[in-house]
Amino acid sequence: MKVRIIPEKCIACGLCQTYSALFDYDDEGIVVLANTDAKECPITPDDSDTITAVKSCPTKALTIL
Ligand code: SF4
Repeated sequence: MKVRIIPEKCIACGLCQTYSALFDYDDEGIVVLANTDAKECPITPDDSDTITAVKSCPTKALTIL
């Protein structure tokens, strides 16, 4: 199970980080993954905070693979 960010769809609303510290932002407020330049990273099925963040993103800039 992985989470993928799609920065092109991000509108810099700042919501995802309120749910999960996995998400961070660049200087313009666009989503990045904390501690990595990658666009996706593994998550565990019980990582409900990250799953909630993905479901809450208003532009579907976050997705679960
Ligand atoms: S919730 Fe979605 S649109 Fe808002 S900052 Fe996060 S990735 Fe961007």
